[in-house]
Amino acid sequence: MADYAGPIQELIDAFGRLPGIGPKSAQRITFHLLKVDKTESQRLIAAVGNAIEKVRFCDLCHNLAESELCSICADSERDQTVLCVVEEPRDVVAVERTREFRGRYHVLGGAIDHLQGVGPEQLKIRELLGRVQSEAISEVIVCTNPNIEGEATALYLTRLLDVPGLTVSRIASGLPVGGDLEYADELTLGRALEGRRVMER
Ligand SMILES: [Zn+2]
Repeated sequence: MADYAGPIQELIDAFGRLPGIGPKSAQRITFHLLKVDKTESQRLIAAVGNAIEKVRFCDLCHNLAESELCSICADSERDQTVLCVVEEPRDVVAVERTREFRGRYHVLGGAIDHLQGVGPEQLKIRELLGRVQSEAISEVIVCTNPNIEGEATALYLTRLLDVPGLTVSRIASGLPVGGDLEYADELTLGRALEGRRVMER
């Protein structure tokens, strides 16, 4: 593909580094932005700047938040005794959509994946253990993705969270294997939550 002059190529390269955007799409978005009305592109710049400035991670569960605590952790109506452990903030959205869960979350920031160099210490696992030891939690539902990495993470957490009086459960199978939680429809995910099974240590 031909190279363009300075700022154009810089923008193409920047878009090309985003997930799911190949060189052709990066080029298409760049030329679209340069062609449209300036107020339109300024609105995009403002939205990106605003989100980057305002959004942070929740101090407690590591979900996306706009202040120290996310809206779920700050909600005293939520069940304080149950934690749903997920890989990414987008999985919180997927579980919330089922309307089957009234507890709170813990976002790991990924799954254990030794091939990609992701071990427990790269994830918010120490923080999870800390919460289980310091908060009055009776159940941890491991809601990691139904793939190799998600299952390995679930097994690791089950062994680690060997705390008296704590139940560790895993969402039921029935979700498309190898898929991501976020692609499961609400009904399927809701049923998987409801049909969770206790993990034997
Ligand atoms: Zn939170």
